[in-house]
Amino acid sequence: MTALPLSDLSDLTTKPLSVLQSVFGYGQFRGPQAEIITHVIAGGDALVLMPTGGGKSLCYQIPALVREGCAIVVSPLIALIQDQVAALREAGVAAAGLYSGQEPAEQREILRSLTNGTLNLLYIAPERIQTPAFLEAADHARLALFAIDEAHCVSQWGHDFRPDYRALTLLHERWPWVPRIALTATADPPTQTDIIRQLKLEAARHFVMSFDRPNITYRVVGKKDPKRQLLSFIQDEHAGDAGIIYCSTRKRVDEIAAWLKEQRVSALPYHAGLDSKVREAHQTRFLRDEGVVMVATIAFGMGIDKPNVRFVAHLDLPKSIEAYYQETGRAGRDGLPATAWMAYGLQDVVMQRGRLDASTAPEDHKLRERGKLDAMLAYCETAECRRTFLLRQLGEDLPKPCGNCDICHDPVETWDATEAARKAMSAIYRTGQRFGAEHLITVLRGERTDKVAEHGHDRLKVFGVGSDLSKDTWRSVLRQLLAVGFVTSDPEAYGGLCLTDAARPVLIDGQPLRLRRDPMAQTGSRSPAPSSDKRTPTLSAPEQALFQHFRGWRLDLARDHKVPPYVILTDATLVDIVRLRPASLEQLGRIPGIGRSKLERYGVAILEQLRAHR
Ligand code: ADP
Ligand code: ZN
Repeated sequence: MTALPLSDLSDLTTKPLSVLQSVFGYGQFRGPQAEIITHVIAGGDALVLMPTGGGKSLCYQIPALVREGCAIVVSPLIALIQDQVAALREAGVAAAGLYSGQEPAEQREILRSLTNGTLNLLYIAPERIQTPAFLEAADHARLALFAIDEAHCVSQWGHDFRPDYRALTLLHERWPWVPRIALTATADPPTQTDIIRQLKLEAARHFVMSFDRPNITYRVVGKKDPKRQLLSFIQDEHAGDAGIIYCSTRKRVDEIAAWLKEQRVSALPYHAGLDSKVREAHQTRFLRDEGVVMVATIAFGMGIDKPNVRFVAHLDLPKSIEAYYQETGRAGRDGLPATAWMAYGLQDVVMQRGRLDASTAPEDHKLRERGKLDAMLAYCETAECRRTFLLRQLGEDLPKPCGNCDICHDPVETWDATEAARKAMSAIYRTGQRFGAEHLITVLRGERTDKVAEHGHDRLKVFGVGSDLSKDTWRSVLRQLLAVGFVTSDPEAYGGLCLTDAARPVLIDGQPLRLRRDPMAQTGSRSPAPSSDKRTPTLSAPEQALFQHFRGWRLDLARDHKVPPYVILTDATLVDIVRLRPASLEQLGRIPGIGRSKLERYGVAILEQLRAHR
């Protein structure tokens, strides 16, 4: 691997905006990018907290091109390094990556170009930093800046702790005059404080952006037949799209992936139990092919910077709001519409509570975990805007409801459920506090099953008192009673439901209770997304066909160049091309994402195809 010559860039003025336009093909800076870039170019240190898809890379890539010397970018994953380097080279930038597994000759060559001053950016895996070869080469090189990507890896509180990141204090100690910029999308305050302390960034300027991701639609559906629900969600709204499906266990990952494959969804499993070669191959296919659906445990995702993941689905309840937000944030980095979809049911509550109760962890740890679970349940059962709820948990206030979640689209009513709750709770009590929801519902509705007869439950006073409500309504009532903590599951009775002290005011003292009316309890499924096609919403049928044509063309090119398709051109750029139908190179060059180098490489081919598809 050798670096591209700098000649492409030599005639640029060194102003950040013109680099943005001519190299990356974008018209304006986004949010605080301009401020961050100016600060780093001037030699300042920075800590940047920005949501996924916010545009962190440009915050160090542009200073790297404007400042003299080579920027060193620390990045935790080889796949990430390779893709970033490929994308920069596509844009005509002299970039290289240094990581384990490369031939020694190749590594020497790269380090030589570092000292020669022919590189703009060198991406490096953290464990390479301490090697004598790198230290020596860097000592002789002119260094533009250090960028520490995925900076939360330095913290044990973060979810991706990497011991090698601890060694990064060395950068500051050995080259104190080189500015440093640390970047992360992890919002939670303890991790932030830890990053600052570990990397000694106390004096750095902090840039904190809103963590809102307005292009993601949030939706929670009641779990009935999760596989079928998932399949219709994919078929109705995201056929042919790339997506991630999170499940809580390896077994379930394998099962769902196999089933989806039978249903002709190109799904692949990913979890820590798979051979590392298989895992790597699946990850590569997810990144390099179009429309692959990854079914995964949470082991999958860090540093997945594929911009056109169109949906993230959860079939099991995530462990916390932070984890959920991080996982759903992997959708829609390109700013185009994307969906975060979750199926949630009574059994999830029972299982998660049971898991915590049975755990042998210290009590204070369990208490914290219960708090996280309760927040997650409250999210599922909320009657207010989902985004308002999520952002509040992350310490941010949304001024008004978002207009882009299931609750905003279809406001939830509440109903006086005092009577129903009392009936449900006395059914629990009178059957001995040891039966699961489904049996309780048959008793409430007066159904004469074998199990009912066996236990003589048809002789109870509560038998049949709830025949006026549907099964789904009863499920919804029981689920909400579990979520608010009036009812819990008893690990001694194999998850049978029992009452807690919290139920007393409603059960005995006559306090009224309002519950949310579950839309799925009435119609069977939540109404689908309001606009009929969330994928590429503004495209007409012929435009959609042309878009698919360009995706095919891009995929062929990407395979030739051995890079992921979005490195050639992003979906957002393709959408603009088919909508605006530029008639000349000059018009094409004005489309966001088409910089000078892409115009040279692909401009003529794009115009020819547009002419052929009139
Ligand atoms: P992050 O690392 O913060 O998740 P990226 O740096 O990968 O985000 O950027 C996300 C997407 O937004 C990329 O496709 C990138 O090219 C695009 N992008 C970044 N900055 C701008 C900008 N100023 N104008 C238009 N697109 C941008
Ligand atoms: Zn909303």
